[in-house]
Amino acid sequence: MNIVILSRNGNLYSTKRLVEEGEKRNHVVEVIDPLKCDIIIEKEKPTIYYKDRYLDYVDAIIPRIGATVTFYGCAVVRQFEMMNIFTTVTSDAIVRSRDKLRSLQRLSKAGIGMPKTVFTNYSRDVEEVIEHVGGTPVIIKLLEGTQGLGVVLAETKSAAESVLEAFNGLQARVIVQEFIKEAKGADLRALVVDGHVVGAMKRQGKDGEFRSNLHRGGTAEIVKLNEAELKLAMKASRALKLPVCGVDMLQSARGPLLLEVNSTPGLEGIESATGKNIARAIITFIERNRS
Ligand code: ADP
Repeated sequence: MNIVILSRNGNLYSTKRLVEEGEKRNHVVEVIDPLKCDIIIEKEKPTIYYKDRYLDYVDAIIPRIGATVTFYGCAVVRQFEMMNIFTTVTSDAIVRSRDKLRSLQRLSKAGIGMPKTVFTNYSRDVEEVIEHVGGTPVIIKLLEGTQGLGVVLAETKSAAESVLEAFNGLQARVIVQEFIKEAKGADLRALVVDGHVVGAMKRQGKDGEFRSNLHRGGTAEIVKLNEAELKLAMKASRALKLPVCGVDMLQSARGPLLLEVNSTPGLEGIESATGKNIARAIITFIERNRS
């Protein structure tokens, strides 16, 4: 098969691993920067032009679209879909997953447990917002944040007020969330491929840090998920129509609670923590769907 990885950087661990595993299974794998693709729209003949050629020979794509290039990246993915080319995740599902609030709305409708969350446009009612999520401490999150940046723990009402005021002043949209203390600065990341969990790790924030992001100095180790955690990860993947995704959850006194679903999960942390070959699982997922 001719497999295209849509990625801006061929030197990233995840991209390199997908190329390596694809080639091991005798596929021709190419890394293409979606921002260097021209989308050609014409009656009944959608095509994509890249550098000096038409991409009309592609059998499947693996989108690795970064959050900063969602609009153009997803337009390219959509064009491949118009050309009836198989994609591991659809453009619609990527766009949806980039909006944290929209995703949480869908996931709660699907019956998935999550920390109680409030989104408000009316910033003067801080007291009520805090009451809605069970009082302080609360977590305040930028809707557009990634890698733990823009996630704040406000211990007191006045701290919450100041943070909300600051974010409002910047016209940034935020959600206020119940703080899950029992998680003790750790979270779980389940890697889902073809709707099934193929690897899971527990990430622990460094001392005194409630955020467990590896980018914030957290550490990761392999973990065996219990039945409820496995179910939650698979249900979240289904609800957001993301057959390949990373599902983050917190362990709480009332069972696992979903934090977010990532449509472009990094492979480095999970492969090194678990020793599992996740890249190969993604390639064989494509093979099963294309044969
Ligand atoms: P990002 O998308 O920026 O990584 P997250 O929502 O995943 O933001 O939050 C970053 C980290 O902060 C999580 O991995 C988790 O460790 C911690 N965290 C987030 N929300 C909560 C919460 N409601 N209660 C306790 N810890 C949380």
